[in-house]
Amino acid sequence: MKPVDPRDNASDVARHLQENGHVAYFAGGCVRDRLLGLAPVDYDIATDATPDRVKALFPHAISVGESFGVMLVRRGGHTLEIATFRSDGLYRDGRHPETIRFGTEIEDAARRDFTVNAMFEDPVSGLLIDHFNGRADLDDRVLRAVGDPAERLSEDRLRVLRAIRFAARFELEIEATTAAALRSDHTLEGVSRERVGGELRRMLSDSTRVRAVELLESFALDLAVLGTARPSGGGHPALKGLAPENREPIDGLAAWMLDREDPADRTSIRALRDGLLLSNREERRLESVLTLVREVEDGWERASMAQRKRSAAREEFTTVVELVRGRDAGFGAGVMSDLLELEATGIAPDPFLSGEDLIGAGLSPGPDFKQILDVTYDAQLEGDLETRAEALAFALKIARRAQGDG
Ligand code: ATP
Ligand code: MG
Repeated sequence: MKPVDPRDNASDVARHLQENGHVAYFAGGCVRDRLLGLAPVDYDIATDATPDRVKALFPHAISVGESFGVMLVRRGGHTLEIATFRSDGLYRDGRHPETIRFGTEIEDAARRDFTVNAMFEDPVSGLLIDHFNGRADLDDRVLRAVGDPAERLSEDRLRVLRAIRFAARFELEIEATTAAALRSDHTLEGVSRERVGGELRRMLSDSTRVRAVELLESFALDLAVLGTARPSGGGHPALKGLAPENREPIDGLAAWMLDREDPADRTSIRALRDGLLLSNREERRLESVLTLVREVEDGWERASMAQRKRSAAREEFTTVVELVRGRDAGFGAGVMSDLLELEATGIAPDPFLSGEDLIGAGLSPGPDFKQILDVTYDAQLEGDLETRAEALAFALKIARRAQGDG
């Protein structure tokens, strides 16, 4: 089956609503992205149809957050969000409106965070519906809150992080009163750790991560985000060392920690894990990257060939080399050229020997097997052993010596 184009798919849904007497627009991010010439990740539809009507027109629609009037429609392999125009009531906890009521199209645009995110587009007529001049702001590369910035940001402090993320990702200048509002409150009070972690991951995985971090620091948000404030006085050499493509957010986090000269000990990593709700896998990767950076920086020069190969064989090594190069270009270049040399004899060749081979040669399995195999593999990595037979002879010699000692 030919995959359905997401835009056509979403247009069909909007058309179906319109043909049944409703107003239905593309809304928010997908409108912005298209004006920027980017492919929207997902399409959101805003409509005057109430959830009941949406359900009647799309019997398989699933209600999410009934009280917000949001319905999900699965269609053509995509999931679309259909949200009834609404007006958000008072915010009490710095994150969630106390009440909402269904409202008009303008009210629905007015509840959105930034002008560039507050546009609608009629997919059938192609008309742009732009109540807050988002188009002009987008053209001028300006990020501006809809309405009174101080009020809008204090209603929902997640918007503070969204502001930074959008400004970085789309290279927008934060408009002066919006910037002043951002500056006046950097507590992120009421924003859950999931959301802080989620926003930070998105900033750090994007190719614009350096700018995102510069903005976070210039708005003094590093304390709220990472739990500690530390001036990265030396700029961001590690962050800049990462190739500017999308990648694992943890690599960006490790880079930021290096730039801040954060201690890479267990306690600091645990604290970050708890603050950002890192998964076990993320925590392990963070720790591995930071440890390996230190090992390479402190030990590479005097490491044996086998030690270098064992480091280079690690999954995180490519990232580590980028970070190390960012921090010290000359040293990094040296590591790179050493790496080429290591590759000539194989960085992670299959070991010549396994435990089975030792048993086959008459040794009885025991706790020293692992050590014998490790030492033999090191000799293989050093290039001292070239065949399986040489490896076996070498292993037996060590085994005999061990027995002699014992
Ligand atoms: P992206 O999905 O690329 O991160 P987006 O703008 O689509 O960007 P979503 O979180 O998908 O962001 O939200 C869709 C739209 O909902 C936004 O464009 C905005 O109009 C509105 N919106 C989302 N979160 C908020 C918020 N915290 N405050 C006000 N409006 C919001
Ligand atoms: Mg979106």
